[in-house]
Amino acid sequence: MCWAPEDPATLLLAIIESGFADRPAAPLRAEFPTALAYLEQIGALKPSSTLWTVWCTACDKDHDATVELDLTGKARHFCPEAGWVDDNDEDLASLRLDREWLLDWLERTFSVMPPRRRRMLLSDRIWHIGEAVLGRTSVTVIFARSFIRRSELYAAIMQVPPTEVGVVLSTAAEVAADFLAVYGYYAVNLDQILLPKTDGLVIDQGRFAGLIRAFARKTRPTARRGGRHSEAPLIVEVFQARRTRGAPYSSKSAEANEIISEWADHHPDFDPPGHSTIRKQLPNPGL
Ligand SMILES: [Zn+2]
Repeated sequence: MCWAPEDPATLLLAIIESGFADRPAAPLRAEFPTALAYLEQIGALKPSSTLWTVWCTACDKDHDATVELDLTGKARHFCPEAGWVDDNDEDLASLRLDREWLLDWLERTFSVMPPRRRRMLLSDRIWHIGEAVLGRTSVTVIFARSFIRRSELYAAIMQVPPTEVGVVLSTAAEVAADFLAVYGYYAVNLDQILLPKTDGLVIDQGRFAGLIRAFARKTRPTARRGGRHSEAPLIVEVFQARRTRGAPYSSKSAEANEIISEWADHHPDFDPPGHSTIRKQLPNPGL
């Protein structure tokens, strides 16, 4: 993702990653005026408690200082270089990422269907957002914020087996993705799909749909393909047993019917393959 200083998506991801604590508004407002105003306007960031520590901007010393009230009740802090410095309401304002807004936004953005089932799986870190349908694929959406230990991620996804394809949306640079697939989950970092637009928060729905299609392909055909590979030698075995005892072989179709009818005698532990699957394994009669 390319860096765009006035891009609310980049700012939002950085804030999500660092959590729900109060943060001083003034330095953020100085650095990202437009993006911050946008995030406040949509309700992602809410005003929080008054700060009692401020970052001094009266000198070049890069220090913080404790806020005091003078005798008239005005806020100020002491700077070793500049002396007493007045702090106005703007200097003391803090902002907090709104938890409910974040979860509502994820629910809306990923078209989670009713009934709402969202719940926290790990305090302030992992949530089950709900179930969505993309194309013909059911998607179980989990959101994980910041770095999550493998054991914590495991404990969370165990509580929500995916309906079809599971997605762990994350903000962390690294997710223990290798073991997720074993349980039907795939990791998607929000910065892969959240577009750095200056005018709002936009998910690249085409990219997300493409990822889901790829996950669905990985999840679905394994059983079928594996089955076909392991069925072939079993079919050949029945075919050869029939030749050994001198059973006639006149057509592939008739032979497939015979193989199905005596399948259980040879391979009682496996269901017989389909008629066409068997035919494909048979040589041409008369060869
Ligand atoms: Zn200072």
